[in-house]
Amino acid sequence: MRKKIVILGAGFGGIKAVFELCKKLRRFGLSAQYEIILVDRNQYHTYTPTLYEIATTSKTTASQLNLKNIVTFPLKTVFKKIDAALIKGSVTNVDLIEGDIHLADGRKLKFDYLVLALGAETNYFNIPGLKENSFTLKTFLDALKIREAIWNKVEEGAGKIKIAVGGAGATGVELASEIKSWACEFEAERKCNVSVQIIEGMPTILPGLDVRVIKLVARRLRKIGVELLLNEFIQKVEPGRIFLKSGLIAECDILIWTGGVKAVSLMGSLPLKKEQKGRVITAGEMECLPQSEDLKLYGKIYALGDAICFYDPETGRPIPLLAEAAIQQAKIAAHNIFEDIKLAEGFSKKASHKKFVPGKYPYIIPVGGKYAVAKFGPLVIWGFPGWVLKGLVELYYLLFNVLPPFRAFKIWLKGLWIFMKNDRLG
Ligand SMILES: Cc1cc2nc3c(=O)[nH]c(=O)nc-3n(C[C@H](O)[C@H](O)[C@H](O)COP(=O)(O)OP(=O)(O)OC[C@H]3O[C@@H](n4cnc5c(N)ncnc54)[C@H](O)[C@@H]3O)c2cc1C
Repeated sequence: MRKKIVILGAGFGGIKAVFELCKKLRRFGLSAQYEIILVDRNQYHTYTPTLYEIATTSKTTASQLNLKNIVTFPLKTVFKKIDAALIKGSVTNVDLIEGDIHLADGRKLKFDYLVLALGAETNYFNIPGLKENSFTLKTFLDALKIREAIWNKVEEGAGKIKIAVGGAGATGVELASEIKSWACEFEAERKCNVSVQIIEGMPTILPGLDVRVIKLVARRLRKIGVELLLNEFIQKVEPGRIFLKSGLIAECDILIWTGGVKAVSLMGSLPLKKEQKGRVITAGEMECLPQSEDLKLYGKIYALGDAICFYDPETGRPIPLLAEAAIQQAKIAAHNIFEDIKLAEGFSKKASHKKFVPGKYPYIIPVGGKYAVAKFGPLVIWGFPGWVLKGLVELYYLLFNVLPPFRAFKIWLKGLWIFMKNDRLG
């Protein structure tokens, strides 16, 4: 019987782990002895950095199907030439002692090696009424819901539409600015006025990012007319009303919450070593340890990406939840799993494990229209060149991580064509 390496989650980390492991198994002629199984609740992989575009593209510019094609990629196509079994199913529980994975439809899977790459979910911080009265932006469907809600308001013929975005992290900033630039399109035609306000609890937008980036982004937000309400924590939300800690009440027609994410709740229920806030942690090898020493885990368990809290040994602080971090961690997890396999199969006398060392990853923040602020090492690039760079990074990801070259290029061009029309402001 083939041993099973099961990867849960077909996000940035999960698909990288599958590619790396398949490559290694093939190179050592071990594909007949080991089976790779990828489980995800969707049949596709989502490219999250362009979700804000999906939420702000007019129906006249692109249909739902067109949008789906440029931001989600069928796993069957992604793994066309790869020997991995794909299972569509929602994981409800993982029995780490018996080695069973339980799916929502009642199916059960065994594993010998397990990679937990289930990502994160929205964190509402138990703020009363927030979940019930807001939209969020995590998935393709979330993006469509936002687009629908804004468009419905416009169709209703409301004279003034107030949109509030909770959280001034990268997602909040890029979404708020793009909504504001989208609004230009229908403000003139429909004689409506759209105000977009970001509400942030910290004294700054983009907390933790380079000061030069913050200044450039703030200047751009002012220029395009996005209002900023800083130092204001949301305490309670009722339909149409946001209650702030200072006593202020902000009125809004639509509230989008981008103020926090946390590892999927399933992770919290697993008997694995966690930090004080209950988040699963791993050391540099990306391997999970049992919650208590007397607990014997079934097989080797690895975890990565947004599903864990990884402390940077240099700063002692959790690293930001970024796609690049998940990809690098997946490479380490795959390497270490394969080292164990080599040892078990007699290809080596000692497993030579690697450690994940967090890097200073580049980032790009689009701020409405064909304008983005990018930070690459010490360099900060902004304006139209930043926007071009964003497109090139996307092409690189599609070409080298997800799709066959011709298809990647075709889809990228299709996206470019839509977003060129969509990104109106210069
Ligand atoms: C709007 C938005 C914009 C972003 N922009 C950027 C950016 O520009 N640059 C950047 O570096 N990062 C960005 N990020 C963050 C980035 O998307 C994450 O850091 C990255 O996706 C983490 O990868 P992952 O593999 O850990 O998880 P994910 O990519 O989230 O993958 C998790 C997978 O697990 C699946 N899953 C979850 N629960 C279950 C379950 N119970 N059963 C079965 N399957 C399940 C999900 O369907 C998903 O496919 C953005 C995130 C968002 C939401």
